Amino acid sequence: MNSNLTYMHGVKSLKDIDVSGKRVLIRVDFNVPVDSHGNITDDRRIRSALPTIDYCIDHNACSITLVSHFGSPKGKYDEKYSLKKVSKRLERLLQKKVEFISDFESSKEEIASCSLERVFLLENIRFYEGEKQNDPELSKKLASICDIYVNDAFGTAHRKHASTYGIAECVPVKVAGFLMMKEIEAFSKALESPTRPIALVIGGAKISSKITLLKAVLQKVDKLIIGGAMSNTFLKALGYEMQGSLYEENFVQTALEVMDEARQNHVKIYLPVDVVITDSIDNPLNVKVVPAQDIAEGYQAVDIGPASVKLFSEAIALSNTIIWNGPMGIYEIDKFSKGTFKIANAIADCYAYTIVGGGDTADAVDKASESENFSFISTGGGASLELLEGKILPGFINLDRKER
Ligand code: ADP
Ligand code: MG
Repeated sequence: MNSNLTYMHGVKSLKDIDVSGKRVLIRVDFNVPVDSHGNITDDRRIRSALPTIDYCIDHNACSITLVSHFGSPKGKYDEKYSLKKVSKRLERLLQKKVEFISDFESSKEEIASCSLERVFLLENIRFYEGEKQNDPELSKKLASICDIYVNDAFGTAHRKHASTYGIAECVPVKVAGFLMMKEIEAFSKALESPTRPIALVIGGAKISSKITLLKAVLQKVDKLIIGGAMSNTFLKALGYEMQGSLYEENFVQTALEVMDEARQNHVKIYLPVDVVITDSIDNPLNVKVVPAQDIAEGYQAVDIGPASVKLFSEAIALSNTIIWNGPMGIYEIDKFSKGTFKIANAIADCYAYTIVGGGDTADAVDKASESENFSFISTGGGASLELLEGKILPGFINLDRKER
């Protein structure tokens, strides 16, 4: 159904090559969330890279150089965005010494001439201006310290940067790591050979950021379950007064078109029938549940209500493949998190293939303690969105392909 995924399936993976005695550079995604003290709050992304790193160690790679970005520094050193803390966590998880390289250019000789089995982690690659610009000079410099390039950074696979894209043009052998392959396999299971009915549960802040996705899935899914601020624009399109709710006036027409197209494609749309409203997000003393058409003046919709949870849960329970992208409300605030968490429970309880794409959605599932109960949780927010939209991710384009 989705030939772009088939195209990405065709790339060579680490399993298809011999790494023994070779210097391997792995682009990983160690862009982990941290708290206000800089402590790592979720190391899932580091743990997800371990199979690829371990494979290289177990198959006698001569050296392993890990490259990642962290946050969005402005092309220069900024202590706040240093990968040093990640280095320590990685060392613990890997149970092996990790040598942290603050400036790979001055340590180039050492990394490049390595004859012992060593693991290096380079400092945040976004400290180099050339990274985001996909500068060929930076790609060449990175290429000069390895014989094999492995891209395992699914979270940045939708970016055309020096370490995710350009480098692959300068290295003779370039393949995908195990996480990249796992992500592609999970999405193809949901999109290429799904067990019907398929439901897309969609929410989050805006239609505008997900409109391509909405249009792409209208050809594929059987049910579209819409919540979050995303549904506010749809409710507005139905003529409801949304008062202070977050919605996009410019996309009211788009919402009408989506509903129209869904009808033509026999896709069933589910919208909230009741909502949780408040007059203040920051100081939520006045919180009520009202029918979606009865939002009081001065109030805004911040979560789906219990009747909507019931309606959505029933539609979810009768699906065999469920794709979830976007929370049902402002789940970061306790009082407005119930809708999102109950939907997380409903999806987790299903005997279906269940997949989550979207950074905040993955975080919400984790907060609902349901991570273990989903079939697959993508490690890439933006990348998973682009996969669902049917795009080919740049991180796969320059990799070696299997003979057909
Ligand atoms: P994801 O990262 O999973 O793709 P998004 O980034 O699109 O999800 O959306 C998540 C954000 O949407 C959250 O920060 C959440 O607070 C916000 N959101 C959801 N529902 C509402 C609402 N009714 N009003 C305001 N913000 C909302
Ligand atoms: Mg988000």
